[in-house]
Amino acid sequence: MARDGLLIDCNGVCVQRLTAAGLAFEDLGHVFLTHEHIDHIAALPNFIHQSWVKGCLYRADNRRTHPLHFYGNAPTIRAVRALLNAVKLPQHPHMFPFEFHELNDAGGTLTAGSITLTYFPVNHGPTPCFGLTTDGPNRRLVYSADTEPVQAIYDHLRDGDILIHDCNKIDVEINREHTTWAQIEALLPSLPNVTVYLVHLPMLGAAQNKKFEQDVTAKHGPRIVVGIDETSINL
Ligand SMILES: [Zn+2]
Ligand SMILES: [Zn+2]
Repeated sequence: MARDGLLIDCNGVCVQRLTAAGLAFEDLGHVFLTHEHIDHIAALPNFIHQSWVKGCLYRADNRRTHPLHFYGNAPTIRAVRALLNAVKLPQHPHMFPFEFHELNDAGGTLTAGSITLTYFPVNHGPTPCFGLTTDGPNRRLVYSADTEPVQAIYDHLRDGDILIHDCNKIDVEINREHTTWAQIEALLPSLPNVTVYLVHLPMLGAAQNKKFEQDVTAKHGPRIVVGIDETSINL
């Protein structure tokens, strides 16, 4: 199952989160990267290294041989190749193969393992970045990635769907290249039956984050979720 799974962006303690979620990360076959920024690709070396330790080094009688596929725009693929080469991951003995798939900035559709997704350009200032959407049996998930509000994101949504949205500032009105809470709040009347998960929140400290969550819930109820690690969403 993990082999057919798709990881979207890779930062923080990715391996620990996947392990906590009960996923055999060492067999994961596909990684989609929305853009080249360090907070979206930085954990890839550790993710690959740990996959190699667990799936190749400690499994000498049954080594992983299936490739890890990377999907991203040209600058992202370039950055990932450089990152992996810099720490010599391709030279590790018995390393599984890497396959790089460069995506057109105009957007498109791809099937990665068991998941089909549509990716489309958003507006992250000068950095090309993809938002994406995928359909489950019951509803659609739309992920804004890092972006100012752009209509293409909201055009994908229907009643009952899930929107995971960049919310990089909660305390100022304008934040170019990202989206503020005020901008999301202004969009809500046009998305009446969509559940919105806020991600990419600033690191304000526990007390301030808690207060933000309380204020948001008091005002909007459960349709707005302040994203936390290891959240599970059934589509
Ligand atoms: Zn970014
Ligand atoms: Zn980011």
